[in-house]
Amino acid sequence: MNKQHVSPIKRRVSRKIWVGDVPVGGDAPIAVQSMTNTETCDVDATVGQIEQLQQAGADLVRVSVPSMDAAEAFGAIRKRVSLPLIADIHFDYKIALRVAELGVDCLRINPGNIGREDRVRAVVEAARDRNIPIRIGVNAGSLEKDLQKKYGEPTPEALVESAMRHIDILDRLDFQNFKLSLKASDVFMTVAAYRQIASQIEQPLHLGITEAGGLRSGTVKSSVGLGMLLMDGIGDTLRVSLAADPVEEIKVGFDILKSLRLRNKGINFIACPSCSRQNFDVIGTMNALESRLEDVLTPLDVAVIGCVVNGPGEAKEADLGLTGGSPSNLIYVDGKPDHKVQNDTLVDHYEQLIRRKIAEKEAEEALVIARSE
Ligand code: SF4
Repeated sequence: MNKQHVSPIKRRVSRKIWVGDVPVGGDAPIAVQSMTNTETCDVDATVGQIEQLQQAGADLVRVSVPSMDAAEAFGAIRKRVSLPLIADIHFDYKIALRVAELGVDCLRINPGNIGREDRVRAVVEAARDRNIPIRIGVNAGSLEKDLQKKYGEPTPEALVESAMRHIDILDRLDFQNFKLSLKASDVFMTVAAYRQIASQIEQPLHLGITEAGGLRSGTVKSSVGLGMLLMDGIGDTLRVSLAADPVEEIKVGFDILKSLRLRNKGINFIACPSCSRQNFDVIGTMNALESRLEDVLTPLDVAVIGCVVNGPGEAKEADLGLTGGSPSNLIYVDGKPDHKVQNDTLVDHYEQLIRRKIAEKEAEEALVIARSE
């Protein structure tokens, strides 16, 4: 099949780091992450949410650790889940030391906020001893007071200067195993800040538009902001911040990457918006298929097109295609017309066909892997 799965984007070359067993940077796929919003001390609820995020395809999950009680809970959570976990810590170096002992995969802590030099050194040494990377996270909402004064308000330059302060501390301790984020809720500021820092350091960049908004508005803002950076080749991992179920953050993150052909996880639907020419209910069919096939992680191009105006053309480029017709609709398999289907059995039939195709693809891939071993 003529697949257009290879992205023309030339990615910025960054140093590869490892968050648990997930590579970030270098030639690694852009990792998609989210953050739990349960009470961390509620271990069952947090484990449950991490499992939901894993099912949705998350590569990494961040958990906020605001207290020593939460650090102990983090240890219990760590034992029960397989995804790499990032502990989100502000200021308290003792929490960082404790989660390092308990098995954290990455520490999100800003060295400049830890305080005394001996404390910074203790955290960095604990990270070094256990090969734990640090994520420096600069946020326009919590910029240092002197930088706010110097620049008058948060600016891209202020974000970069703040980041360089944290980086300098790690440099002095000869610690290079870190990644960096520079987030603002404003798209222009975020994009400008990342563009500036991208050429100044070699470490991987974690992308995000912070406090982006609710499901729809935050998705749009994140898609625009992250899209511009990804098009520039910038970004090694991303989190879409939504005031919504974190599972949505994962889905949107993958959809952004899929739209730029940077990751191919799950079904890539090609659907027309429908109009009076449609020969079946395109929107109803799409909604049903999307919700029934949410569990699928194997990449597959599936076209759902209401009539022959665009149907055959799109179907030819997809793994499976459905083109509306009268008196019956036409199904394409691997770009070729294959058989007809009536409206009343359409959704059930197409779902079965998609699942069969996925099973075939997975079996083929397993064979390739077995042969290469
Ligand atoms: S493909 Fe056909 S049904 Fe779909 S929007 Fe175009 S003309 Fe309308």
